[in-house]
Amino acid sequence: MSVRHLKVSIISLTCCAGCVSSFLDAGDALAEVLSQDFEVTYSPTFIDLKEIPEVDLAIVEGGVRTEADEKLIREVRAKSRILVALGICATHGGITSLGNISSLKTLLEKEYSLIETSNLPELKDLMYPLCNFVDVDYYVPGCPPMPMLIVHTIKSIANGKSPPRHQSVVCTECHRKIVPAKVERLYGIYEKEANRELCLVSQGFVCLGSLTREGCGAPCPRSGFTCFGCRGPADSLLYRTRDLYAFLIKVISTRTGIPQQKVKEELYQNPFIFHTFIFSKFERFKARERVI
Ligand code: SF4
Ligand code: SF4
Ligand code: SF4
Repeated sequence: MSVRHLKVSIISLTCCAGCVSSFLDAGDALAEVLSQDFEVTYSPTFIDLKEIPEVDLAIVEGGVRTEADEKLIREVRAKSRILVALGICATHGGITSLGNISSLKTLLEKEYSLIETSNLPELKDLMYPLCNFVDVDYYVPGCPPMPMLIVHTIKSIANGKSPPRHQSVVCTECHRKIVPAKVERLYGIYEKEANRELCLVSQGFVCLGSLTREGCGAPCPRSGFTCFGCRGPADSLLYRTRDLYAFLIKVISTRTGIPQQKVKEELYQNPFIFHTFIFSKFERFKARERVI
């Protein structure tokens, strides 16, 4: 049976608010969803309403970094039938969990030394994804997820269906030619001009497409920029190994001819190579079948 006009809340925890902005970017497709499928009853972005209402569907961006975030996500969960974690901050911890490299004390002393810390909200020891605190019905990773990916997911839910899943890797959407090559060393993406046809890894760049969940359409490698893994690890990879880093080193070594030990050393020596494939604590993230 088709479920129409869901009552929806849109919630932001600690984040940059880019995921909700991406949703708004869907333009006409979003307007259609709003007119046919659901009614937004709570969103600090659109509506001046203080109390969290009971809803059919809660769409939540951002992760849990403050005590207030935890209180809010627990209340939202209790008041929603279906909860969607939108964006990699909410699904895995994402770029905001880069702070987890340091202890909270070190982070405040080193990065926020000019701020009066008594004015900050009460902080948690780490940045956490939602699943560390509440049950999540669907995970839509991406930083941010593509507008149409969000719309298709929400439309499926509104129609009582499970959203279509993306299980393979970004390489399947990229169309660059993967060849085993002979490369001297690894390169940051700004260090040399990339060939337009060949796989970026075959040219010595560190592209994470072979580890990362498809579904974005590979906009980064298609435009000559390395994939930094914003859709999180692909199903195919999670079934094969939990050691993503070792898998990446193996892929790079095979495609560049650089020995694995040298790849390992270079990954952390070259300041032009980005390291953003970082996940927060996700002990309860065992629900591959609900990752979209
Ligand atoms: S996932 Fe990326 S775009 Fe979305 S809130 Fe987090 S940092 Fe911003
Ligand atoms: S590693 Fe990157 S550039 Fe190479 S095929 Fe995969 S997505 Fe494309
Ligand atoms: S290509 Fe990689 S970094 Fe770019 S949007 Fe897709 S998953 Fe994210």
